Amino acid sequence: MPNRKFSDGEVVMGRWPGSVLYYEVQVTSYDDVAHLYTVKYKDGTELALKESDIRSQSSFKHRKSQSSSSSPSRRSSSRSRSRSRSPGRPAKGRRRSASQSREHKDDKKKTIQETSLALPVLVLFKPSENNTKRYNGEPESTEKNATSCIILEQKLKPDLEVKRVLEQYSLRSRKDDKKKEEIYSEKKTFVAVKPIEKVSTKTKELEFGGRIGTFMMIILLPATVFYLLLMCKQDDPSLLNFPALPALESLWDGRVFGVFLLWFFLQAVFYLLPIGKVVEGLPLSSGRKLQYRINGFYAFIFTAAAIGVLLYFQFELHYLYDHFMQFAASAAAFALALSIYLYVRSLKAPEEELAPGGNSGYFIYDFFTGHELNPRIGSFDLKYFCELRPGLIGWVVINLAMLLAEMKIHNLSVPSLSMILVNSFQLLYVVDALWNEEAVLTTMDITHDGFGFMLAFGDLVWVPFVYSLQAFYLVGHPTTITWPVAAAITVLNCIGYYIFRSANSQKNNFRRNPADPKLANLKFIPTATGKGLLVTGWWGFVRHPNYLGDIIMALAWSLPCGFNHILPYFYVIYFICLLVHREARDEHHCKQKYGLAWDRYCQRVPYRIFPYIY
Ligand code: NDP
Repeated sequence: MPNRKFSDGEVVMGRWPGSVLYYEVQVTSYDDVAHLYTVKYKDGTELALKESDIRSQSSFKHRKSQSSSSSPSRRSSSRSRSRSRSPGRPAKGRRRSASQSREHKDDKKKTIQETSLALPVLVLFKPSENNTKRYNGEPESTEKNATSCIILEQKLKPDLEVKRVLEQYSLRSRKDDKKKEEIYSEKKTFVAVKPIEKVSTKTKELEFGGRIGTFMMIILLPATVFYLLLMCKQDDPSLLNFPALPALESLWDGRVFGVFLLWFFLQAVFYLLPIGKVVEGLPLSSGRKLQYRINGFYAFIFTAAAIGVLLYFQFELHYLYDHFMQFAASAAAFALALSIYLYVRSLKAPEEELAPGGNSGYFIYDFFTGHELNPRIGSFDLKYFCELRPGLIGWVVINLAMLLAEMKIHNLSVPSLSMILVNSFQLLYVVDALWNEEAVLTTMDITHDGFGFMLAFGDLVWVPFVYSLQAFYLVGHPTTITWPVAAAITVLNCIGYYIFRSANSQKNNFRRNPADPKLANLKFIPTATGKGLLVTGWWGFVRHPNYLGDIIMALAWSLPCGFNHILPYFYVIYFICLLVHREARDEHHCKQKYGLAWDRYCQRVPYRIFPYIY
């Protein structure tokens, strides 16, 4: 007989994955191997829950008056419970037109309904490692609920703080001491909860075309880099003019490899310098938060100073241009060696440290997507380091080398206008990324993807050698543009940058502090996880406004190269494909995280990246 607390058919309260919200559910079966209960919500949704996420109905009785349990997808319209202000609602006293006011009322009603739905019963436990995706059938990374964490932390803070948080989430404050005692006693109950047995976290849904797709990409990605560079070196880089293949040994130069290693380790030294603040990343599936030093911008300044010193002492930076293929080969060899090291060490990594998306059990797939989520040597985080430093800063240095090479080869006293634009636009992009380094901690690359060939090659080879293609092209194929054209391209880049930056900042600020008064004019859809989805502002315009801005900038980087060849437009074409694919991946993850709330968001904001097009 399995040792179980709840029997089939019993009506109990089940926690909604990733949140502190409990809904009425019926137990339908029990898996005594995985120790999971299958429960059915009132709308028919079936999920597998751990015993620790199920409570008897009697433990909720005293709160029935303030909340009726319902399925997450059901909408109860209890107006009386939603008096308090949601952080996304407009400020009181703001003037509205009749239609605005009608719309506002509708929205308000919706928010009321959704808020009352999202908060049927607040249970003051620390959220355990509950995984929305896993409960939806896919063993993915643990969905953490920032809001619920905030609520939990507030339990230990003074009354006023508790009251403020409860009001913020449309809850009645628990004023009387008796209730407060309950809060503490329930917290004690949590502390006594036994650790839960682990459930396998194997990746079931394979991305990138599965094993065959990833195998092909391991071959095609390096081939594409060398094809593009060889094309660029030709006088006539037309697509049909296929370049002659160089002898393999001509691609290898020990001295160049030494310079590459020096570059990599110099960046590592900058990363290790005890300057810049240390911040915590998002919680891992174990609940642990890793610490990251934010000093990428300092690394950039130190690098600029080092390059300045080299130039002062007449170091010929166009050595980089002369040996560009060999540098790419060195970086590719290093990325491959790093990927092998990463895979081998991941075999010894504990299960909870493996990447949610890179633990399929298939060697080639895991090798490509990255098996271990956050490989570290001591406190040195290999993935985080490679994301923004050697490759990204390297891209700017390569661009500068191309600028100097252009001046030298064409005997110019100043670089061409095209070269200046390409250099300036891309410098702005890199500086922006380093200035906002902390934002990288919430990206898919850090939270979802492991560190394997895909990111190692992408960060160390693809970014510096493919993203600098326009500058490389301009050295061999001078292009003259007029000042008005340059001004128009600059305006385009500024528009792209404005959309990109403000969209990213809007979301980052909202995620960091949904109650930020600066965001009070934005509306959002609450979700069962406690996090909201913005439906006005940039995120109400299209579902990935930051991608739109990024693509506009990518076009502005190619335009200074003129229209003689398609080669300098490779970046914008590839980037659209990348972001369309990335957008689809993100939507898939969001659908798993947010379920019906995500569907509602998609109804409200029908276009993904390009308004009225896609
Ligand atoms: P995004 O910054 O686009 O973040 C997507 C996440 O935002 C979702 O998973 C969801 O996460 C959250 N979200 C989605 N919709 C909403 C909403 N309506 N309201 C609030 N939150 C929402 O992810 P990326 O990492 O893909 O991109 C980051 C930046 O990097 C982008 O600007 C992109 O253009 C750029 N980029 C550049 C590349 C390059 O090679 N140059 C490559 C890839 C990206 P949650 O709800 O969990 O917070």
